[in-house]
Amino acid sequence: MSERVQCPCGRTIENAREYKLLYLKKELSEIDVLCPNDTCYLRELGYVKFDMKGEEAKFREASFYPPFVTWNAGQMGHERAEKLLKAHLRQIVTKEIDWKMIAKVTPPAPTTPATPATPTASETE
Ligand SMILES: [Zn+2]
Repeated sequence: MSERVQCPCGRTIENAREYKLLYLKKELSEIDVLCPNDTCYLRELGYVKFDMKGEEAKFREASFYPPFVTWNAGQMGHERAEKLLKAHLRQIVTKEIDWKMIAKVTPPAPTTPATPATPTASETE
């Protein structure tokens, strides 16, 4: 049984390893899942979101975008597409993303409710 899915640009993806992961949206705690084809017109196929719990990154949700999902549903049927894409997402989240690295480059979440500390020059020791 082939586990192959296809991007609307024509690129087939057999293994979740092939997706490109891009972590630019640090302030949104979001990792982009990109098509392996550099000239793909869609580029972003999905995303993975997480929360910072202290200094640890905790997976929140992952999803592929509708154009990619719809395309594959059209190719192989809705049920099968959903199953394969879910398996790919699971592999991305559990195997492909280096969560320790993500946590390292993401500022830790504030542990106290945000009370903006306004530094003043008149503070005394
Ligand atoms: Zn593509």
